[in-house]
Amino acid sequence: MNNKIFLDDYILTYEKSCKYLSNLTDINYHNSKRFLVNTIGTTNFSFPINSYEIGYGSNHVVIIGTTHGCEILSTYFVIETMINFLLDKSIYEKYTKKYTFHFIPILNPEGFIISSSNVYENVFNLNKKELENLCTTYLEKYNIDDDNALKQICLPKKYKKVLKSSLNYILYKDLRKSVHDILQDCNLAQDVLPIWSANGIGIDPNCNSIHKFNEIAEYKKVNKYGKLRYNDIPAYKPSPIGFHGFDPLTKKCPETYYLNNFIQNLYKKNLSSKKEKLLAIFSYHCTGGEIFSYPDLSICSKSNYDLHLKAIDNYRKYTNYIPRDENLKFGYMDYYRSTLEKVISMTIELSRKNGNPIGPFSNIDDILEEVKLNKIALFNTIDYISSII
Ligand SMILES: [Zn+2]
Repeated sequence: MNNKIFLDDYILTYEKSCKYLSNLTDINYHNSKRFLVNTIGTTNFSFPINSYEIGYGSNHVVIIGTTHGCEILSTYFVIETMINFLLDKSIYEKYTKKYTFHFIPILNPEGFIISSSNVYENVFNLNKKELENLCTTYLEKYNIDDDNALKQICLPKKYKKVLKSSLNYILYKDLRKSVHDILQDCNLAQDVLPIWSANGIGIDPNCNSIHKFNEIAEYKKVNKYGKLRYNDIPAYKPSPIGFHGFDPLTKKCPETYYLNNFIQNLYKKNLSSKKEKLLAIFSYHCTGGEIFSYPDLSICSKSNYDLHLKAIDNYRKYTNYIPRDENLKFGYMDYYRSTLEKVISMTIELSRKNGNPIGPFSNIDDILEEVKLNKIALFNTIDYISSII
């Protein structure tokens, strides 16, 4: 991977992302590189969930951004990686022989639209310094809110007052109406729109999975609200963040339902073909520079567990991100890392600074350095995984 940045438009919206992706599609169609756009499913409000398939190799690798709507940096990272990959001839030739990549830059288009259209109204006319100042202010308020929540001080949330927000910034009428109804039901104001993580009907795709679905439903009966600065947001019913859904992997949460069909179809190759296999899944989020990739030892094989330990260690070497072995493992990536044998499934939290959606951009040079390190980590880890499986 080149040690440089190709995409100098850091805070993306849905429409801008689609424009960059359709430009890439056109350019590569004319270059006659193998570049396929697969719509793996559509969301409740009919937005396509697209996977961009690049390469000819027998080892399949899936790279996912924006499971949580407000993690706009993760979509930037996936598109930047695609551009870098396609423009760097030596990287392209080396990797496309051995691998087929499936880039899914926006798993959750509805959540991304809700969050990023609100963010955009605040940042579109700012220069770099002004943008950094706004993001720094946001991050500081967000941290104060966390501090207050930890000390059980009950004050209005300061982070909500930094960005102007409105339902009217959501251009799509049916989606806007659904979000309006959820806010009313949750007794929340429009100032939570920038941190919207769920899909358009208030299900958080990250939590919607077969793995520990019943346990997480029980947990939410007791722990009804989110953590820290989100402790006023319900997580037990449709809401902006944290609701696991009504049932696991059904069309009510199309993001995880169709992703699961897609992943299981790729995994069939591991069981039926000696030539092709699903090698790895990388899901990018944006909070805190951490690696969540320990499988659940109670259900996964020892050898699969050990493979994940090695992959974590390898990714950490390039990024210095902190591996986290959380107690309650749930959600679709936990499901894959514990049940797909000899497939490495990694969840990477980009950005050592938290404060989604804009906290990571409070120092743009710093975050771009992290993006570069993660691109290097991603491709080196793919090679490493391929050498141990
Ligand atoms: Zn996330």
